[in-house]
Amino acid sequence: MVTVDPADQRRLLEVQALDTRLDQVAHTRETLPEAARAAELQSLVGTLRDDVVLLQTKVSDLDREVTRAENDVQAVRARAERDRARLESGQGSSKDLMGIQHELESLARRQSDLEDVELEVMERREEQAALLAGVEQRLAAARTELETVTAARDARFAELDSQRTALEDDRKAAATGLAEPMMKVYERLRGRLGSGAALLEAGRCEGCRMPISPTEVHALLARPADEMLRCPECERILVRPAKPDA
Ligand SMILES: [Zn+2]
Repeated sequence: MVTVDPADQRRLLEVQALDTRLDQVAHTRETLPEAARAAELQSLVGTLRDDVVLLQTKVSDLDREVTRAENDVQAVRARAERDRARLESGQGSSKDLMGIQHELESLARRQSDLEDVELEVMERREEQAALLAGVEQRLAAARTELETVTAARDARFAELDSQRTALEDDRKAAATGLAEPMMKVYERLRGRLGSGAALLEAGRCEGCRMPISPTEVHALLARPADEMLRCPECERILVRPAKPDA
């Protein structure tokens, strides 16, 4: 049997109330929507940044391909111009000139094919560039939102941390000088049930909210005032209500 000054038993309820609020603050901190959203955005920013790098590489690869295709077309065009100049000069045998004429025809076909290739590569480049612009836009938007959400999260963290500090101070003051055996039982019950002490009120335990029979209540209240009571249902420390004249 643990004996505790009745006033100290009632003080334990203050400690319990402060511990409950501390638990609530800790739970709020752990389940902050702003923190979840910030983590989500952080990972989104990472993914989008990877996508940007990938698309930038694709676009610059295609830039090189466009240049190569342009050079190919340019080389054929230059060759055709040289041929035409020779044709216009009229120099050479008719057989030579006929040969040049044939070459010009095949160069025209080749140029048309190469221009098709160039066009196709340019189209692919534009597609990838448009994708890149879209992803860059989404990345910028995600970064902006991340900044806002992080600031909101940190503000909430600071607010909750200062609440916790204040509650911890109050809790320390409330628990100062309370009997060690009672506190040991209290902490053990708190670890098991979430709360360790409850008020005996209106014939029931406010911890488990189970009704206690009037006979049992009567027997409990007949015990010496400095005897620490336990709820017959949940085992929590049961604190008698303060007498109106106390
Ligand atoms: Zn109970």
